[in-house]
Amino acid sequence: MSKWPIGVFTSIDAGLGVRLEVAEELDIPTVQIHAPHAGNRTEAAATAFLEKCKAAGISVTAVFGGFEGESYADIPTTVATVGLVPPETQAARAQEMKEISDFAKLLGCDTVALHIGFVPEDRDSAEYKQIVDCTRDLLDHVKANGQQLNLETGQETADHLLEFIHDVDRDNLFINFDPANMILYGTGDPIDALKKVAKYVRSVHCKDATWAADGERGKSWGREVPFGTGDINAELYLQTLKEIGYDGPLTIEREIPEEPTQQKKDIGQAVATINELKAKIG
Ligand code: MG
Repeated sequence: MSKWPIGVFTSIDAGLGVRLEVAEELDIPTVQIHAPHAGNRTEAAATAFLEKCKAAGISVTAVFGGFEGESYADIPTTVATVGLVPPETQAARAQEMKEISDFAKLLGCDTVALHIGFVPEDRDSAEYKQIVDCTRDLLDHVKANGQQLNLETGQETADHLLEFIHDVDRDNLFINFDPANMILYGTGDPIDALKKVAKYVRSVHCKDATWAADGERGKSWGREVPFGTGDINAELYLQTLKEIGYDGPLTIEREIPEEPTQQKKDIGQAVATINELKAKIG
């Protein structure tokens, strides 16, 4: 695969991504996919999807897990409902994530990814030790499938993410770096964060956002905007990816599935922006 192939986030059955047809129409060669819902994670579904990808000349670079009951309505709701951290759903979701890893294997994909949730800040707390153990157990399953797990960034500061990866202490735990999430969640300057976590970055999102108002950062959402139009300096972002030696896919994420026409337009614009920057600095 050439350096920095463009990608887009897609969905097999439903979700935030675009339909595969949109990737095909925009001539995008790679996709990350949202895992389909439980009943649709079958060998037949994987085969059918792979055939469509093959016909369109598209490779699947990562499969993202997500779960029933997750809500990104506001930051406190996200803390309470998203990922493997919330204790009441932890065991069931960890099991489901293993099944998603198995489905990714059917797709021939060596990377699974997810928002793990807000990792508790106190490294001595029972909740923290529990999510460390849960992640280790998941990683063993993922490893048996020949895969790595990439953690989506955003909920944690770069420093705390590094502490967590250190404490989990497994060789198949990495990062899907999303610069916009650092802004949306108010967890730190995205370029500084990228430099800090550089050695673990195995996949990235090209997503943009504007900061919440002063005093609101980390309490209420920033605003997601088309890539290249927000507070990420897109050129500096790609320049930094080059500096850290990242040459994997640049996966565009634009989370407005309720507006498919605008979503496709914004993704097309992001492709143009990335191609210009690749020509300039790639
Ligand atoms: Mg993302």
